[in-house]
Amino acid sequence: MSGHGFSTRAIHDGQPADPLTGAVNVPIYASSTYAQEEIGKHRGYEYSRVSNPTREALEENLASLEGGTSAHVFSSGMAAIAALVTMFKTGDHVICGSNVYGGTPRLFDQIIAHYGILFSYVDTTDLEQVRQAIKPTTRLIHIETPTNPLMQITDIRAIADICHERRAAGQAIDLSVDNTFMSPYFQRPIEFGADIVMHSTTKFLNGHSDGLGGVLVATTPEHKESFEFVQKCTGGILSPFECFLVLRGVKTLAVRMKQHEVNGYAIANYLAGHAKVPQVYYPGLPQHPQHALAQRQMSGFGALITFETGSLDNANAVLRRLRVCTVGESLGGVETLVSHPATMTHAALGEEGRARIGLTDGMVRISAGIEDAEDLLEDLEQALSVL
Ligand code: PLP
Repeated sequence: MSGHGFSTRAIHDGQPADPLTGAVNVPIYASSTYAQEEIGKHRGYEYSRVSNPTREALEENLASLEGGTSAHVFSSGMAAIAALVTMFKTGDHVICGSNVYGGTPRLFDQIIAHYGILFSYVDTTDLEQVRQAIKPTTRLIHIETPTNPLMQITDIRAIADICHERRAAGQAIDLSVDNTFMSPYFQRPIEFGADIVMHSTTKFLNGHSDGLGGVLVATTPEHKESFEFVQKCTGGILSPFECFLVLRGVKTLAVRMKQHEVNGYAIANYLAGHAKVPQVYYPGLPQHPQHALAQRQMSGFGALITFETGSLDNANAVLRRLRVCTVGESLGGVETLVSHPATMTHAALGEEGRARIGLTDGMVRISAGIEDAEDLLEDLEQALSVL
């Protein structure tokens, strides 16, 4: 439904009424295989690791929402990132943002590097650092914006321009953006020149904390072919059951994201005015150093807020007192989730790695849910009174 608005595409793209029954939801095609009338004569489906109608519906939908040409779903966000780097060969080089989800460098350094693929970590908010890190063998720049959990913003268009310059000089180099934090509702990296968009669909796209998943959105036939081949060869695809959950989640993405942001903004403002909170990281606050850039490339500021409590003990004391907010890993669900990055998402970085990116033991990250804002603020008020 090109030409239609975001919400219309979220509800309709990839999921017309079922031609057999008129059902308004795409059925869960729970079938590993498909009958053939004679050898090689089938209706487009042979085996579900290769293709499945429920998965295809979701893939078409997500490609539309991100403005890509195809999408390819995997069993988790990490499986999608693993699929992304299987495009490379021994000797190829990847530049990764230094301040991304901790599982990403863990995968790169502790598994993929064993195959002779080289990784450099740079602060991608500093374009000069990115330029300096590029080698003739660099095949990918992988960024996350805003970063997890410090909410730093990388200029997507500027990094895409660097890639385009190199491509004009004959180098095969792509920009991939982990868009998990913003969802396509608030940020569409392909519009700024990104080549590949990645999501943990576990978060806002699913939105209900009831299924893991990941997606790679492509913009070229070469990447489409490559990602389909990985799905077929490694089999880390999303099951039709989970595809159904994401399809259902995506239908309400726009309304959920609006409410997530209302609550995120209310919480960030409240924390910014709290006498015992020395620092709040939220791109929607005018005092955020990259507020103007955030306004340029995002149509909203999202639901993720990080704040400083001063120490691990303080963070723990606050988390223990929460009653409405749920303490736990993950983000992007309808419920407000509060996490402790140093011991959860970024534990794998180690103390030194966390110090390098400025992640302290006192930091607490909130993923604002869509509950009533006043209940969330009341809960935070009573929890922070311990400081
Ligand atoms: N990217 C980001 C930004 C994340 O926050 C996460 C998980 O927290 C991932 C990737 C990994 O996704 P998954 O947990 O679905 O494997």
